[in-house]
Amino acid sequence: MGSGEMLRQIYQRLYDHFGPQHWWPGETPFEVLVGAILTQNANWQNVEKAIANLRDAGVLDLEKMSELPPDLLAGYIRPSGYYNIKAGRLRNLLAHINQAHGGDLDAFLGQDAAVLREELLSIRGIGPETADSMILYAAQKPVFVVDAYTHRILSRHDLIAEDYGYQEIQELFTDNLAEDVALFNEYHALLVRTGKEYCRKSAPRCDRCPLRGL
Ligand code: SF4
Repeated sequence: MGSGEMLRQIYQRLYDHFGPQHWWPGETPFEVLVGAILTQNANWQNVEKAIANLRDAGVLDLEKMSELPPDLLAGYIRPSGYYNIKAGRLRNLLAHINQAHGGDLDAFLGQDAAVLREELLSIRGIGPETADSMILYAAQKPVFVVDAYTHRILSRHDLIAEDYGYQEIQELFTDNLAEDVALFNEYHALLVRTGKEYCRKSAPRCDRCPLRGL
């Protein structure tokens, strides 16, 4: 079976098993951007608490958050962990949107995906996974998000070598699947779900996994 067929089969089995995942759990593009930084090295429940703090304080908004003193911002996002570092990263992102785009979030996100990606990757603290999550889930443009679960599942099914890097894995998807925002959105979410429930780092639950035998 070729890589394209294998990727399509994986998707179909996961979708049939889990159904739609309704990602990203953010109400606005700005909230998705904030969530993408807060979720670095954190579980989503803790990110939700941090986002709730920001919402309750009325600062889940580009202009208002830009005016917040750094220590206050760090305090609100404390539940997500690494809060001083993440506050710095959020401020770097806000500074970029304010300086390069006059604070116009739509103009920032409306750019060509390659340009947007380059800008995001130039911001300190934003790597490929965070940048691509923002492009896919906030800007709604078709880039495939790769994470540790993607790497683990694909390497365990011999679709990639253990030493494959981010870009090689991403190209495997984009070279073999149609560039479709809804598909990329759902596929990434399904891989995360599979990684959490079945394809654990140690003791994977292959006997009950929808991808068993593939
Ligand atoms: S748990 Fe087993 S069957 Fe499921 S994705 Fe991982 S390696 Fe494959």
